[in-house]
Amino acid sequence: MSSASDDVSQSKETILSRHREAAAEVVPDHTQMYIGGEWQAAASGETFDTLDPTTGEVLASVARGGAEDVDRAVEAAWEAFDEEWADTTESERQAVLLEIADRVEEHAEELAKLETLDNGKTLMEARIDMGSTAEQFRYFAGAIEIDRGQTESGDGYHGQVIKEPYGVVGQIIPWNFPLTMASWKLAPALAAGNCSVIKPAEQTPLSLLRLMEIVGDVVPDGVVNVVTGYGEEAGEPISTHEDVRKIAFTGSTTVGKQIMRNAADTVTDVTLELGGKSPIVVHEDADPHEAVETIAFAIFANTGECCEAGSRLFVHEDVADAVLEGLQGAAEGMTVGDPLDEETDLGPKVSREQVERTMEYLESAKEGGAEFLAGGDAPDDEALEDGCFVAPTLVEGLDHDHEAVQEEIFGPVLEVFRWEDYDEMIELANDVDYGLAGGVITNDIEKADRTARDIEAGYIWVNTWHEMSPGLPYGGYKQSGIGREMSVDTLDHYTQTKSIKYGLD
Ligand code: NDP
Repeated sequence: MSSASDDVSQSKETILSRHREAAAEVVPDHTQMYIGGEWQAAASGETFDTLDPTTGEVLASVARGGAEDVDRAVEAAWEAFDEEWADTTESERQAVLLEIADRVEEHAEELAKLETLDNGKTLMEARIDMGSTAEQFRYFAGAIEIDRGQTESGDGYHGQVIKEPYGVVGQIIPWNFPLTMASWKLAPALAAGNCSVIKPAEQTPLSLLRLMEIVGDVVPDGVVNVVTGYGEEAGEPISTHEDVRKIAFTGSTTVGKQIMRNAADTVTDVTLELGGKSPIVVHEDADPHEAVETIAFAIFANTGECCEAGSRLFVHEDVADAVLEGLQGAAEGMTVGDPLDEETDLGPKVSREQVERTMEYLESAKEGGAEFLAGGDAPDDEALEDGCFVAPTLVEGLDHDHEAVQEEIFGPVLEVFRWEDYDEMIELANDVDYGLAGGVITNDIEKADRTARDIEAGYIWVNTWHEMSPGLPYGGYKQSGIGREMSVDTLDHYTQTKSIKYGLD
């Protein structure tokens, strides 16, 4: 592994001054909540700090919203719905979404830098995020036009099925893809004719606030309301609010289950995306070199903080040595360091808390008899000591029922298993509570098809990873969630179905 001190552009002083300079340039002026088209402080007057995970420095103090602020936001959203948004035509909403997409593209470099500062992902990764953020708004601008109504006529009657928006929806998003996750929620919600009360994660509120500065004159007041704050204080009141008609959540399984319980009280519809522990299956015919590239990308992209990360590798014994040797080289060859430096491959995790969580799993893996083929700790590098860094890690030798294998680590940690018997391997590959994604690496189309069908998960990659298209539904089996995002299917999650029957006798 290359580390910061190998390179003068990644010395501690250079990193610090680069980050301070970037923060002065891109941190938004407004760090209050955006409610009813106005920037508003929390009713309590309180704020919280959002930190740069590379340097540990405070980037900004942000309004610490609570139940009273959520009430204001929900009220503003209903007012906007009743007075304006419910009456907009599809082409009017389409124009708004297209303009948002254009402005995200215009400001892509600035937004990417802000995302890198607040989240720690590399600038290259953040640029990709801005591309997919714009793409979501553009896709749903188009999807509005797909008429999903039906008609039926019979003897003496005519029947019609129409789709109506819920009105006000609550959206709670995580910190791993802050603006992209916001776009996955906002674009279909607005396209379907809803108004939103949306809460970014406490670790990464800045890019969504900046987006509202950029598009505030395009989106009618109250259509999008951003409530910042902590989950228990600002998220919980959204999920329990009796005037919020639908909840969409992405995050941990524990909180997802709580959101579902809360929604039960008001019989509110929920969609949940709750992470994964996705298997990568390598068959005996795979080219080891190509396999290594795909696997390294599957686990190390975004510092492993991807719900769909390929985090359990099942490699056929015939190619295992070659693949593992290649992976070891890939992990050790990665440049870990300042995510604003274009040469960096792996940035920090989002927070100190997330590093501790990863380290606890690694400690537990050591106790469970794991052999570390690479990494296993923070990088040994003074320049990175104030940041939230974890070295790319490969672990072999754990029992499949060990907690580090069964639970989502959400870091750059890959667990390796060798296999010879296909049925036994698939049984293990499916032996987790999660079922978000999976993948298969082979040059044999029959093997690819069989394994893709055998893995119990909502999204399967063959000889690639992380690539998504807005037209392909994304979501999980088992405890990875309920419902789908992306694709026109998502419009169904943001609309209610009404049948109208006309008697003609
Ligand atoms: P959380 O589930 O706590 O956070 C996700 C979002 O939910 C955040 O906006 C958070 O707010 C909010 N939230 C937290 N508690 C509540 C609540 N009681 N009611 C309503 N909203 C709430 O995840 P963590 O950030 O704690 O991460 C823990 C683990 O979850 C990770 O290590 C990872 O395994 C998994 N995760 C999965 C993600 C995915 O993409 N599926 C994304 C993020 C995490 P706030 O941050 O302000 O507290």
